[in-house]
Amino acid sequence: MTGVTVPEPRVTVRENVALMEGYHSPQIDVRVRLNTNESPVMPPQAWLGALQAAQNQIAWNRYPDRSATKLRAAIAQHEGVASEQVFAANGSNEVLQAVMLAFGGPTRKALVFEPTYALHSHIARLAATEVVAAQRCEDFSIDLTHAIDTLAAERPAVTFLCSPNNPTGTVDAPECTDTLLAEVTVLGGLLLVDEAYGQFATHSAIGMIDEARPLAVARTYSKTWSMAAARLGYLIAPSWVVAALDKVALPYHLDSFKQIAGCLALEYHTEMSQRVAELTKERERLAVALGSLEVQQWPSGANFILFRPNHGDGQKVWEELLERSVLVRNCASWPNLSGCLRVTVGTKTENDAFLSALSDVLSEVKQ
Ligand SMILES: *Cc1c(COP(=O)(O)O)cnc(C)c1O
Repeated sequence: MTGVTVPEPRVTVRENVALMEGYHSPQIDVRVRLNTNESPVMPPQAWLGALQAAQNQIAWNRYPDRSATKLRAAIAQHEGVASEQVFAANGSNEVLQAVMLAFGGPTRKALVFEPTYALHSHIARLAATEVVAAQRCEDFSIDLTHAIDTLAAERPAVTFLCSPNNPTGTVDAPECTDTLLAEVTVLGGLLLVDEAYGQFATHSAIGMIDEARPLAVARTYSKTWSMAAARLGYLIAPSWVVAALDKVALPYHLDSFKQIAGCLALEYHTEMSQRVAELTKERERLAVALGSLEVQQWPSGANFILFRPNHGDGQKVWEELLERSVLVRNCASWPNLSGCLRVTVGTKTENDAFLSALSDVLSEVKQ
């Protein structure tokens, strides 16, 4: 397209978008892919069969059910809430976007506790919301006194809590959620707990959902349900929050195929729980093995572990792992995570391949 000149004045990108970096996680073809916290295995074969059969029933010439009635009812039943307390969208990222479109915006603020999932602040900014970043402690827990002071000073419309936290794996104590919720309630804000990895942890905030509480919990099919390719996530929240999200979501945003896929998946929750149990066991095995290598690691309640090599820099270790066809997430240059890498729990074979490559790399960089 060389030689094409758009006449001046040329339209410019919105100011707060022009400065943005976008989302980066390299999609590289490797033997062992442990960088995006996906499930290492496909969904159950029976689910795939049921989905293929159901596909023939779709009226492809018609728009999908706009309010995804069956899907919301199925999720509601699965989570033990009312259908009116469920919002579904194309991945929990779209759920978060809907929350920011409805409750964020110019003159409003969103609070995040860093280091955390980069998409929270990114999506908030895309919705022209000012982001306030509070810092987690050295052990990645949240200092509640500091959090309460920040809430009182900034009065954010939306406060993000990520538990288990990506990329640190930290599970916030129930008292942390209680305290933040109490404070947010007084200040007239919304507490949004991102539980993308909720099934891997010992407790969840879903049980606290109540019409009278400004609390919402986001979950996804991308991790536990082995369905990252489907792009499906949901929010459990008071019905008045869900009603607001329904106003900002595009009409018919969830296609018929996806609605069916999401409904059918829930019928395999026993298999899913078994997989979660297996991955949790593998996570513990990985943690023990990392314990005998020269790295620092942090306790994780998710399907990944954050670690930092004691010698050599993280960037170099990441590159050397990639040399050996093992891809992990490179957090080495992220604020407060200097030198850190994040490994997703894979199959036993993948984890062994990672451990052996890491052990090899660590002894090399030490010399
Ligand atoms: C992976 C992840 C998500 C999932 O996003 P989807 O859009 O549902 O794939 C959401 N939140 C966090 C913290 C994550 O790590």
